[in-house]
Amino acid sequence: MSKVIVIGAGISGLIAAYFLKKPYEVLEAKSYAGGLCVSYYENGFVFDCSGHFIHIKDEKIKKFINKLTGGIDKINRNASICIKNKFVPYPFQTNLYHLNEKMKKECIDGILKRKNIEISTKMPFLEWSKAMFGTGITKYFMKPYNQKLWSYDLNKMTAEWSESFIPKLNTENIIKSAYSKSKGRYGYNSTFYYPKNRGCGALIDGLTKKIKINANTKTKKIDIKNKTIFSFDGKLYKYNKIISTQALPELIKQITNVPLNVKTAAEKLLASSVRCINIGIKSEKGIPQLLKDRHWVYVPEMKFPFYRIGIYSNINKNNAPGNSYSFYVEYSSFNGRYKNTENVMMDFKKIGFIRNTDEIVAVNIIDMPYAYVIFDKNRQKSIEIINTFLNKNGIFSIGRYGAWEYSFIEKNIKDAKAIAELINEQF
Ligand SMILES: Cc1cc2nc3c(=O)[nH]c(=O)nc-3n(C[C@H](O)[C@H](O)[C@H](O)COP(=O)(O)OP(=O)(O)OC[C@H]3O[C@@H](n4cnc5c(N)ncnc54)[C@H](O)[C@@H]3O)c2cc1C
Repeated sequence: MSKVIVIGAGISGLIAAYFLKKPYEVLEAKSYAGGLCVSYYENGFVFDCSGHFIHIKDEKIKKFINKLTGGIDKINRNASICIKNKFVPYPFQTNLYHLNEKMKKECIDGILKRKNIEISTKMPFLEWSKAMFGTGITKYFMKPYNQKLWSYDLNKMTAEWSESFIPKLNTENIIKSAYSKSKGRYGYNSTFYYPKNRGCGALIDGLTKKIKINANTKTKKIDIKNKTIFSFDGKLYKYNKIISTQALPELIKQITNVPLNVKTAAEKLLASSVRCINIGIKSEKGIPQLLKDRHWVYVPEMKFPFYRIGIYSNINKNNAPGNSYSFYVEYSSFNGRYKNTENVMMDFKKIGFIRNTDEIVAVNIIDMPYAYVIFDKNRQKSIEIINTFLNKNGIFSIGRYGAWEYSFIEKNIKDAKAIAELINEQF
């Protein structure tokens, strides 16, 4: 019997299945569900795929997530930027007070001397940053941090992704922040939600209680003429519609007889990868004072190979057993080759995040080959060409990597529900 085939059991695929009222099957390449929302449970530690916090604007989604996870806590962000051995509260641009006099002056001069030009997020990222925040803020934070995060030429990227993610403030607020400590809370993540138990994976636990998945079932070939999917384990699935949440370039590679313009468009899609090293530490002394209560720390300086660290056990004490604390450390790469990840413990000791006497009791390494979709001049046009072709053939590509976007859990839930409802109505 033909049905809807959902490719991928991450949050997008599971939510799509949850709302589908038609017969469906979920095919998942890995032996478990969750995609990047999965949590790993090791030696009493709860490790996510680096920081996975839930940002919710919609009350209905909040209620839904609350029920699914068995309860979520609302948390006020405590994030900072580690720069010149000091911690500057995040966001950088509203906390100039914490900088030394030279940096402060450069940031204020930069803001005051900005070119009077029309600002558009279609501009190259660095140009946009200078036009928006001036040369000083760009020099000390926007450029080095984003260089490390994206591992890609910031002159070849646009600033389109920044819309929801970088707090934009008026000049007066930025300058004021150099003279008195900022009290405002800015940005999409100034407060966030996190499950009371079992980390971000509580979301997935809630969904997999209701949805059956075919694990270890990686799709290999999609024959759009005969509406058949072949998996690597030799099975064959007839479909009427496909909801795919795998990365868009991979989906196109699997489809037979793809027109040349679609193939070419898919080849232009770029992404950077992330390696997350999770570390569990036992220490009678508890977490070093330097990190007490901090949720995550941005690390823009090039002398450290990682771009951000976070402290799971400060987000929720249930993330680590007694007398322990736990971290994630994030490294980025454009070509899949990460630099100096083996030095993580040495780097951490140097910076004071681990004491020499602390005992490392759990390590878990997660590679995310598709992590951050790169927004460049080709992206928008390419995804339009690809989606026109896919939709004509009854394939809907959704989710962070299916839609090829910089999205987050709440948006993934909304989009997956919307596509399920569309299919419920139309097919
Ligand atoms: C470093 C990092 C930090 C993040 N932090 C946050 C955060 O704090 N808050 C937030 O809201 N969001 C965050 N996100 C984004 C969040 O992880 C994603 O929006 C979300 O997990 C996307 O879910 P998805 O189901 O669309 O994709 P995925 O999670 O990628 O799921 C896709 C699924 O498809 C499966 N699959 C792939 N290929 C095949 C195939 N051929 N056959 C069958 N199955 C296949 C995969 O195994 C996977 O299970 C972060 C992302 C990254 C990279």
